[in-house]
Amino acid sequence: MNRGSEGSLGPAKWVISHGVDEHPSYVVTPSDVPEWPGTPPTIGVTPATMTERFDFLVVGAGPCGIAVGAAAARVGASCALFDKGCVTASIVDYPYYMSFFSTARMLEIGNVPFTIPNDKPTRREALAYYRYVVDHWDLDVRQYERVEQIEGSVGGFTVHTRSMDGVAHIYAADRVVVATGGFHEPNLLGVPGEDSVKVRHYYKEPYEYYDQDVLVVGGRNSAVESSLELFRNGARVTLVHFEPTIDSGVKSWVVPDIQNRLDKGEIASYFRHRVVEILPKSVRLRSEVDRTEVEVANDFVVAMTGWRANPSLLTAMGVEIDPDTGKPVHDPATMETNVPGVHIAGVIAAGHDANKIFIENGREHGELIVGSG
Ligand SMILES: Cc1cc2nc3c(=O)[nH]c(=O)nc-3n(C[C@H](O)[C@H](O)[C@H](O)COP(=O)(O)OP(=O)(O)OC[C@H]3O[C@@H](n4cnc5c(N)ncnc54)[C@H](O)[C@@H]3O)c2cc1C
Repeated sequence: MNRGSEGSLGPAKWVISHGVDEHPSYVVTPSDVPEWPGTPPTIGVTPATMTERFDFLVVGAGPCGIAVGAAAARVGASCALFDKGCVTASIVDYPYYMSFFSTARMLEIGNVPFTIPNDKPTRREALAYYRYVVDHWDLDVRQYERVEQIEGSVGGFTVHTRSMDGVAHIYAADRVVVATGGFHEPNLLGVPGEDSVKVRHYYKEPYEYYDQDVLVVGGRNSAVESSLELFRNGARVTLVHFEPTIDSGVKSWVVPDIQNRLDKGEIASYFRHRVVEILPKSVRLRSEVDRTEVEVANDFVVAMTGWRANPSLLTAMGVEIDPDTGKPVHDPATMETNVPGVHIAGVIAAGHDANKIFIENGREHGELIVGSG
């Protein structure tokens, strides 16, 4: 990476060599390039040629993708990471003032200490830390380059990417690791009016909601914490959740605060209710108990209903998805899927239950994958 950091970073503990230096690179002439699906490369730009190959090519530079890169660097394997956004793009999109529920120690990857004055890091501390891990291991991260298609087989994968300028690129890899996370597609409410500009599936900060009627949908940490932050910054908050109470997994130190606000009516609540329609100045909610409906004044809807993984890169390669769990079929000892040479890392391995894999346990996938390669 071309970094603008101040001073010398110092050497990484291991020398890493990248594909071009270590392996005889081979160039595919334009006539050999497979026909490209979708948007053609920008006019006037030379068609993509394959110029680099890697032992491991990782799709996604979130914490778990970075952990794969660090594991590869430790053994001197060539590895490149590709991200459609920046390094740790998912965390960049988290609420600005959030703190992790995990301690810094539990979020460490690549044997790089995460030292902060408090036990639980903030989003900004985590962003700085993971960027430092990339620097420390001198990882080859190609930011703003989306992986669009992978074909081939173990020892000979061809990976098609497109950079932000619209140019198509092709790389070769012995093994590919899909670490695309589970934060990029929201679980939709599926109700009329959800496409309105007043509906948000990602919550960042409370200030735009001052003196507004805000409906927060959900009962987990994201819903509870955004409700409290909105309440403390001048929004009139109503919480709606289809269960009878907030989720049992809500951070223990947050529970008394939300419970007091609910008990005092400072945050209005409709438990055992669902949103049935979003209108310009109101929302309609329906009771799960007796099906009666209520219309509540509303300016904004903050739908904290979770997000889901997109396994389309995997399924296009023939990776099977368990229809019940949504998990890609894989061996947990090596994270290799039913397609030899195709591995998964991080939260994408969790299927529908994204809360079962997070950084704390997904960080271990890198060593399992590289150790098996
Ligand atoms: C508010 C909040 C708080 C959390 N707190 C904690 C906590 O305290 N402790 C904990 O352990 N976990 C926590 N988590 C969960 C944790 O952040 C995720 O489990 C973690 O980010 C998963 O890492 P990952 O590398 O698997 O995926 P991600 O971090 O989502 O990274 C996936 C990357 O893949 C990229 N990508 C996707 N598709 C493509 C493509 N086709 N081509 C190229 N790049 C692509 C994305 O841009 C993204 O950068 C929290 C999550 C949220 C939302």
